[in-house]
Amino acid sequence: MHEMSLAEGIRQIVEDAGRAQGFRKVKTVVLEIGQLSSVEPEALRFCFDVVMKDSIADGAALQIDAVPGQGWCMQCAMSVPIGALYDPCPHCGSYQVQATGGTEMRVKELEIE
Ligand SMILES: [Zn+2]
Repeated sequence: MHEMSLAEGIRQIVEDAGRAQGFRKVKTVVLEIGQLSSVEPEALRFCFDVVMKDSIADGAALQIDAVPGQGWCMQCAMSVPIGALYDPCPHCGSYQVQATGGTEMRVKELEIE
C-alpha cells in the first residue's frame, strides 16, 4: 500500500516544518490530492492516523482538497479537463493528451494550535 509511505512522507514534512518554525502541535493538515495522482484518499486517511501517532500531528484532522485533472491536447492545442490518466480529449477524442495538472499530492497548509 503506497499510501503508507506517502503518510510517512507527510509526517516528515510536518515534523521538519515544526522544527523550522518552532511549533509543537498541528491541529489540521491540509493536503492537495490531484485526481490523476493515483492516491486513494480513504486509504491515505487511514494511514495518516496510524503514522501520525506520537508525532506533533498526533490526532490532527486531515483535510483533503481534490485538484481536478488537466491535460494538454495536442490535436486541439489547448488545455482540457480529464478524469483519469490516459483519458481521451473530451473535445476531439484524441488520445494524444499529456497530463499537465492534478498529478501530484502535496501538503498545502498546516494549521497549528
Ligand atoms: Zn482534443
